[in-house]
Amino acid sequence: MTENEKTQMIYPCIKCPTSCEVTVRLEEGKIVEVLGNTCKLGENYVRKEHESPERNVTTTVRLAGAFIPRLPVRTSKEVPKKSIQKVMLAASEVTVTAPVKEGQIVCQNVAGTGADLVACRTFPVA
Ligand code: SF4
Repeated sequence: MTENEKTQMIYPCIKCPTSCEVTVRLEEGKIVEVLGNTCKLGENYVRKEHESPERNVTTTVRLAGAFIPRLPVRTSKEVPKKSIQKVMLAASEVTVTAPVKEGQIVCQNVAGTGADLVACRTFPVA
């Protein structure tokens, strides 16, 4: 069954601990109805999750001159889910030299997503 032949999809809403099971009814891949959500927040969440899902990405990059060889980093904002592989590839080519401060941008506009890669920890020179 192709994506366009599906008539419904079910998403767990993660916007609050109630965890409503939200169903989107589809016609030719387009949302025609949203069911099972208790509030508008859930409807907005599943519409976005279905049409253009985004995620924050966390990973590590090479770190030179510190007491460990990897620096944990995260994206400064969510990026399209389909861009995650490109972000990971770009991160694999980044090397940061200590000292580095938590919050420091280590790669601007990573993979053309508009998000930056940001250091998650401070490391002094070893
Ligand atoms: S639909 Fe509303 S009540 Fe239900 S889990 Fe989502 S945010 Fe919570």
